[in-house]
Amino acid sequence: MRYISTRGLAPAQDFAQILLAGLASDGGLFMPEEWPQFSPADVKRLSATAESDYDSAATEILSHFTGKSFSHSELLADVAGAYAGFDDERIVPLEPLGPELFLLELFHGPTLAFKDLALQVLGRLFARALAKRGGRATVVVATSGDTGSAAIAALGGLPNIDVFVLHPHNRVSEVQRRQMTTSPHGNVHNIALEGTFDDAQSIVKALFADADFAARAHLTAVNSINFARIAAQTVYYFAAARLDAPPIFVVPTGNFGDIFAGEAASRMGLEIEKLIIATNSNDILARALNDGVYASGRAEATLSPSMDIQVASNFERALFEASGRDAEWVRDAMNEFAHEKKLELPMKVLSALRDRYAAVSCNDAETLDAMARVHREFGRLIDPHTAVGMCAAFKFWKKTAGPIVVLSTAHPAKFPDAVKRATGITPPLPPHMADLYEKKERMSVLPNDLAAIRGFIKDRVAHS
Ligand SMILES: *Cc1c(COP(=O)(O)O)cnc(C)c1O
Repeated sequence: MRYISTRGLAPAQDFAQILLAGLASDGGLFMPEEWPQFSPADVKRLSATAESDYDSAATEILSHFTGKSFSHSELLADVAGAYAGFDDERIVPLEPLGPELFLLELFHGPTLAFKDLALQVLGRLFARALAKRGGRATVVVATSGDTGSAAIAALGGLPNIDVFVLHPHNRVSEVQRRQMTTSPHGNVHNIALEGTFDDAQSIVKALFADADFAARAHLTAVNSINFARIAAQTVYYFAAARLDAPPIFVVPTGNFGDIFAGEAASRMGLEIEKLIIATNSNDILARALNDGVYASGRAEATLSPSMDIQVASNFERALFEASGRDAEWVRDAMNEFAHEKKLELPMKVLSALRDRYAAVSCNDAETLDAMARVHREFGRLIDPHTAVGMCAAFKFWKKTAGPIVVLSTAHPAKFPDAVKRATGITPPLPPHMADLYEKKERMSVLPNDLAAIRGFIKDRVAHS
């Protein structure tokens, strides 16, 4: 399997290369040259396998993406290692809530959010590919909370990799901060930036744009622009296909990575009725789909902070497909968006998107209502991101035939304040994390200054 860039100007690469590189050299995102194809019988078999043996199903699906980069036994070992620490042996339990309404629980990994499902695999494959290539890598991540902790849980302690995670100082939840700062591993470096998430993000972008520094430090990205994450996320869509009819999937969406994995699964042969983009009041994606104009504004702080995003990087992948893989158009469109902060979608692209997706946005008040309603009607606590999905699902439930599956992207204990506000109950941490508040924290508080961050990274990379 070879990978090409959505902007058409980077050379095709194999899986190990795109895994280690993250972003394509022309600024585009890597995509498989063609989608692996599964027949209806394959899909049925895979979803049955996923229910009893998630590791085998994941290995089979991923092997179509990894091609010759890893042997079957290497892949199986890394997948099994990735999911061994999950606290539910079904890995992604599909829980019925009401008639034709299901929650797909994606929060049973070490950091209680769905990002573990991909990053735990990615970290292991990354270390393996790096060992084959030789040399070191420096992973730099800006986080509003969940990506940082999942990256640290996946990469902490791995050889030849340094991880630098920038979070906005005093702007992540205490659970999120402690999950990052209590890592015992010497290759993990936490930076509490005296600024916002957007400041952290622009510093990371500037570090990558500094070609000299990026090459010398072997910078790489493991955020959701890395296609390996999308590949690993297709698996749980197949796992949910054991229902009687093709489901509507409702996906709480920020950077469009998780929901694009649903499009990927459908292009691979999985029958999906519709993919619902559920956003909070940062509704750029809902506006793009409903009004046909993709325009970014200022990110607003909400109860679902991991979705407080204005520019959804992976939307470029959906545009690439919706345009019939027209890389030249994507390149022009992304340039226009970068300059104008606005892009009008051509009718052909828009109707291709609307065939596959619908979008709903829910504000904080509706998010709290959804949390309260799920508690009242089904006796369950859900986190505020899942609640945005439930809010969207309630608009379709009982009005459409067929099953609705809401992706539950985080454990309620990760966002205790919002859950308490909606239900009056503080959800307890799962037993494996009960000592989180006793562990020693390590982080460096640094000014919102590119040179300071670059110097900090340079010092530590040179000494490791
Ligand atoms: C990251 C995250 C999301 C958004 O996922 P995308 O792939 O960026 O769309 C939703 N919910 C939670 C809990 C997250 O951590």
